[in-house]
Amino acid sequence: MERFYAPFGVSPEVERYCAAAASSLRETFDGIDAVAERNQAKVLLAMQKNRVDAGCFAGTTGYGYDDVGRDTLERVYADTFHTQSALVRPQLVCGTHALAVALSANLLPGDELLSPVGKPYDTLEEVIGLRPSPCSLAEYGVTYAQADLLPDGGFDWQAIEKAITPRTKLVTIQRSKGYALRPTLSVAQIGELIAFCKRKKPDVLCMVDNCYGEFVEETEPSDVGADMVVGSLIKNPGGGLAPIGGYICGTKACVDRCAYRLSAPGLGQEVGASLDVKTSLYQGFFLAPEVVAGALKGAIFAAKAYGDLGFRVLPESGEARHDIIQAIELGDPDKLVAFCRGIQAAAPVDSYVTPVPAPMPGYDAPVIMAAGAFVQGSSIELSADGPLRPPYAVYFQGGLSWHHAKLGIVLSLQKLWERNLISLPLGGKAARSAG
Ligand SMILES: *Cc1c(COP(=O)(O)O)cnc(C)c1O
Repeated sequence: MERFYAPFGVSPEVERYCAAAASSLRETFDGIDAVAERNQAKVLLAMQKNRVDAGCFAGTTGYGYDDVGRDTLERVYADTFHTQSALVRPQLVCGTHALAVALSANLLPGDELLSPVGKPYDTLEEVIGLRPSPCSLAEYGVTYAQADLLPDGGFDWQAIEKAITPRTKLVTIQRSKGYALRPTLSVAQIGELIAFCKRKKPDVLCMVDNCYGEFVEETEPSDVGADMVVGSLIKNPGGGLAPIGGYICGTKACVDRCAYRLSAPGLGQEVGASLDVKTSLYQGFFLAPEVVAGALKGAIFAAKAYGDLGFRVLPESGEARHDIIQAIELGDPDKLVAFCRGIQAAAPVDSYVTPVPAPMPGYDAPVIMAAGAFVQGSSIELSADGPLRPPYAVYFQGGLSWHHAKLGIVLSLQKLWERNLISLPLGGKAARSAG
């Protein structure tokens, strides 16, 4: 690879270190491929069962009545996630919107929402009203309760039991760590948590924020009792091709309410033209298991390459994966900046741009971001960001292919190495023969 990487400015020492790291991961990658193969079969079966044909790709306008392609896509999602129903729409403008619709459709004044896994994702704070906002659930008289995870990342069963009251209507469970330094939940753990909540209160609804988790395992939270799973199409299930959208898969009762909330009572799922995005939504979903596998390999490779240099990585390269996010504690602002510049330098779009830290609303420190994506803001594409404050952790995710994700990490190491911010183990014989 030296000859092919050299034009990007990659030194032979860095290339050799990375080749050795990558070749040590073959068995782990076999495991990732096995999950992708199973998920590919699941998606293909759902497409065949629902007789997807060229007619499904035709665009619709106006009200979007009788949009067969839209309705079929929703059945494909429902069958893949093993749910009764699904709402998959470009009108769900992002993941936060899909979550807000799912929550506000299924919570009424006087109800309580419970998060048994600690503070939810940043953007949900305004949805819930933890940070006051017009139209928050709090404004509509929906209260919020929370049970934090234990210091080791486990569930605090006692606190959860205490927090479930007769008013608890809906339990929200965030699968991914998001931008927190806590472990991501496995589907099995989510299943245990749902079973516990439903034992305590059988009619409680359980919703899972599935962002970044789709197709990482061979089952989804909807296979272990979730009433709704919710996510963004510019993350995993869009496969990098979906230009916009969100999804809510779940019971018919829950999804019907979501459709009424999204459009209007009485209209529900019957309206909503899909314009010209359907081919991308179908094709992206079809490719998603493979794209997720590539992103996972990139994350594991980053954990290996940085972990072996002594950086704290979460999760570690050998740990089981439940989402596509990799956190690396770089411990130094210069390293964080150099890392992001390497990722940017590997982008197919905007590669000539130099990321710089800048203040961001909602953050107490400047944030640096690297992204050069075909779909703006898409984080299934190679991207990295982190706030400039200790421990100077970078959150790295995406990569439409393993080989692209690898080049991103190689270039990040190159930028650190050039600036003498890391030293590499001697790129001698052992590393070369392993590569
Ligand atoms: C990305 C994300 C969201 C919000 O999705 P947007 O599309 O950015 O609005 C919510 N929860 C988690 C865990 C996420 O990763």
